[in-house]
Amino acid sequence: MNALLPTSTAGSLPKPSWLAQPETLWSEWKLPDDELAEGKRDALRLSLADQRDAGIDIVSDGEQTRQHFVTTFIEHLGGVDFEKRETVRIRNRYDASVPTVVGAVSRDRPVFVDDARFLRAQTDQPIKWALPGPMTMIDTLYDAHYGSREKLAWEFAGILNQEAKELQAAGVDIIQFDEPAFNVFFDEVKDWGVAVLERATEGLTCDTAVHVCYGYGIKANTDWKQTLGAEWRQYEEIFPKLQESSIDIVSLECHNSHVPLELIELIRGKKVMVGAIDVASTHIETPDEVAATLRRALQFVDADHLYPSTNCGMAPLRRSVARAKLQALGAGAAIVRQELSD
Ligand code: ZN
Repeated sequence: MNALLPTSTAGSLPKPSWLAQPETLWSEWKLPDDELAEGKRDALRLSLADQRDAGIDIVSDGEQTRQHFVTTFIEHLGGVDFEKRETVRIRNRYDASVPTVVGAVSRDRPVFVDDARFLRAQTDQPIKWALPGPMTMIDTLYDAHYGSREKLAWEFAGILNQEAKELQAAGVDIIQFDEPAFNVFFDEVKDWGVAVLERATEGLTCDTAVHVCYGYGIKANTDWKQTLGAEWRQYEEIFPKLQESSIDIVSLECHNSHVPLELIELIRGKKVMVGAIDVASTHIETPDEVAATLRRALQFVDADHLYPSTNCGMAPLRRSVARAKLQALGAGAAIVRQELSD
């Protein structure tokens, strides 16, 4: 584990082709029910090996046991009907078929805690575990019960807090909440989004992170990015609120994005996970390209607060591409680490 510029991924890694359809979000599992649990764990072990080979310092499960970063969590909750699906517009951007909240939501049993224990048993490296953020959860379902996005978000925050506390007890070092919805619904973020997120982290003693990105490298997102203009200033809307919050780490998109990096100054004092790998392109970054992104970020964040990472999850990429990008991340961070120690 490198104490300086510790590397990590934003979250997901592609699954093996025997487990799920490559380059496909929401792929069905390919294994029969009685082989699925073991298959998922084998995949988790392989994703850990890929991270280790690339010299990634803070490792994750690569989200190998989840069909999707939001729906798999929601699927385990009471009050949600997965048979009753509605097509809704999510992130104000694209239509998705989502489950329906039909009654009071509850967490009747842990969702990822066994998986986290399994990962903990495989490695002594620090572990980061990603959970969907409350606002992104309510934006990825149809609510036929609460009739209020805010009210449902508070309910989910309580549920996420229960899960997060058990993940911490299982040995997770950093709990990350994925909130791509923060980049879309600015007024809600300011009114209650950050407060609800803090409720999800209440009482945690491990580090907490929030990941706010421009989404997976799927067509709906890359088309949307085309409409955002020359400068992407979305973070300017939400960073002041995050700066005031108790969240320790902010994970943001950087390499190949049009985010003006000086916006990092708005979260002064926070640790910053800087995306130095583009997940929307199959071009493999060179270590020098990664190093150049990190150097640019270092103009606005202290070296001991900089965490090199990927822009977003890599689930929709080919596995060989994701693996090579991880290698570039590890090698690029090593270059800058060397420069800083010279
Ligand atoms: Zn993301």
